[in-house]
Amino acid sequence: MAKQEDQFKKVISHAKEYGYIFPSSEIYDGLSAVYDYGQNGAELKKNIREYWWKSMVQMNQNIVGLDSAIFMHPTTWKASGHVDAFSDPLIDNKDSKKRYRADVLVEDYAEKLNIKAEKEIAKAEKRFGDSFDREQYEATNPRVIGYREKQKSATARLAKYLDADDLTAVKALIEELEIACPESGSKNWTDVRQFNLMFGTKLGASAETATDLFLRPETAQGIFVNFLNVQKTGRMKIPFGIAQTGKAFRNEIVARQFIFRMREFEQMEMQFFVRPGEEMKWYEHWKETRLMWHKSLGLGDENYRFHDHEKLAHYANAAADIEFNFPFGFKELEGIHSRTDFDLKAHEEFSGKKLQFFDPELNESYVPYVVETSIGLDRMFLAVFSTALQEEELDNGSSRTVLKLPAVLAPVKAAVLPLVKKDGLPEIAHQIIDNLKFDYNVIYDEKDAVGRRYRRQDAAGTPFCITVDHDTKEDGKVTVRDRDSMEQERVDIDELQTLLDKKINFKHWMS
Ligand code: ATP
Repeated sequence: MAKQEDQFKKVISHAKEYGYIFPSSEIYDGLSAVYDYGQNGAELKKNIREYWWKSMVQMNQNIVGLDSAIFMHPTTWKASGHVDAFSDPLIDNKDSKKRYRADVLVEDYAEKLNIKAEKEIAKAEKRFGDSFDREQYEATNPRVIGYREKQKSATARLAKYLDADDLTAVKALIEELEIACPESGSKNWTDVRQFNLMFGTKLGASAETATDLFLRPETAQGIFVNFLNVQKTGRMKIPFGIAQTGKAFRNEIVARQFIFRMREFEQMEMQFFVRPGEEMKWYEHWKETRLMWHKSLGLGDENYRFHDHEKLAHYANAAADIEFNFPFGFKELEGIHSRTDFDLKAHEEFSGKKLQFFDPELNESYVPYVVETSIGLDRMFLAVFSTALQEEELDNGSSRTVLKLPAVLAPVKAAVLPLVKKDGLPEIAHQIIDNLKFDYNVIYDEKDAVGRRYRRQDAAGTPFCITVDHDTKEDGKVTVRDRDSMEQERVDIDELQTLLDKKINFKHWMS
């Protein structure tokens, strides 16, 4: 645990030191759970957004994009259920005065049991070696069975109580499981209460005439209210999708995990409209497709797992999370939800407008069903960044800090380094930059010995260094150093473009 915490601290300080993420308004001591992206962070974030957008919109003939406003008519949030039901159950510890989400306390308790079971299995695997049969061991070892049963029972009971809105039972469950405050170790809890997560604001010049508005807590509703606009003007035929990225706001009860849980964050969502009755097929399709998208980045297949929901949101008939192994354990990175026709039907009812599709093959009109994929851009940033940050022991006994960002996402693709600041080498370096800059973000660095410059670029996440030396003047070749393997090769200046393209271009990553 301590090791994980150390790693997480390193992630946060590295993100600041290398211009990725700063606390918001830091000169005023920051603002809780709000962060700013620095010069490198803004690029990485943009590249992740683009990687998502291209794979959704550009790669699929039947998915189009949208950019709807953050402010929406207030009735939107009545119809969507957010005014009545977008709340989290909160609980305070009376001794530490710390506030928690009651559901998260129980989920963390269950995850600890899961970790214990996994440890038990790993120990046995070591003992038995090749002859180990995981399935059989899981089914027969009494300790593993015990952990798993306790885990299942806790999450099932939590789901049942939350479904019934029985907050007294949720508190009783926390007490029965003897869950203690992670901060103080105390079990002295307040009652559980519901807390609405939407931020309110006002639209209008004077207090009397102003309208109450909400800052959108998800981008999805902007897609639903534009369903007909897009379908008609784009002549879209079912099945089709509408994708959107943009800011969302939630007054989170507990926000102590850096950019994992923010009060202002960005979502990348896609709503896929399908024929009623075909939603489960598409739900499975999008679960698989989204997992493949994640795996394409090479952060390690073992870092992902699905978590099927037991407690379904008011609008869903199936839901799963793609969880990622963050520095603090497996947590939700993306949600895939089968939202039925809940949203469109609700908007029909509240607006009095028909939101239907005439299906020429069936010769009938219906309200489409929806499968949603919803991922937090900031969470994706954290997944990429925290996995990329590594401390490596080198053969010569020294070590290096390296940020192994996927090249397709790296903020700066290459640094061009003249070996010395004279003899015409800087001029050649600038010429190389001028040629590459139309396609790639490349930078110039001439300060310090070249070895130190390599280390600096390693830590900043730059995948390639291009070094110009005295031989370059004779043979027109430069040295290209790969950040991850540290291997160097001599390359013709004219071939740099092709080489970088092979390593960086989106198409080589997605195919
Ligand atoms: P959680 O259970 O962690 O609160 P959620 O189930 O409420 O998340 P969704 O409403 O499904 O999340 O939102 C879709 C995605 O938006 C999440 O998978 C996550 O990546 C991202 N997200 C949600 N809330 C936040 C937040 N406060 N900060 C950053 N990203 C968030």
